Amino acid sequence: MTPTLEPLVARAIELGLQSSLATPRAAALLASKSHSPEADAIIQESQRLTIDYKACLKEIEAAAPHQYTALRNQIVDQVRKAMKKQPGMRKWRCPVCNFLFDERIGLPRMKIPASTSFQDLPDGWECPECDGSKERFVLDRD
Ligand SMILES: [Zn+2]
Repeated sequence: MTPTLEPLVARAIELGLQSSLATPRAAALLASKSHSPEADAIIQESQRLTIDYKACLKEIEAAAPHQYTALRNQIVDQVRKAMKKQPGMRKWRCPVCNFLFDERIGLPRMKIPASTSFQDLPDGWECPECDGSKERFVLDRD
């Protein structure tokens, strides 16, 4: 894979997972016709993720039209695999900037695959948003 494609593919996997995780909850809220600001925010976020995911795929298609089908299959496959391994996966929050590390999603842009447990992150790993140390992260009870 060319160097320009790699971050795009990683981003597509991240967005694909985020949108796959957000969609069922948003769909349930839509079906229940609940209109709280929280519900609206969740629905909007889910729609935004889907739009971003599709835009990212389009970017990949534009950058590598000949490889697109193979890359897209690879992305969809990774998302599907990660979605299967959900039970027991947790989220960890950076208390400084509120960045959320979701074990199901991992951090593809930092080459941390989906379904990576927080404990398995390398020593010296830092919050990608604020460089806060790994030790400061707290389990997110959502
Ligand atoms: Zn942080």
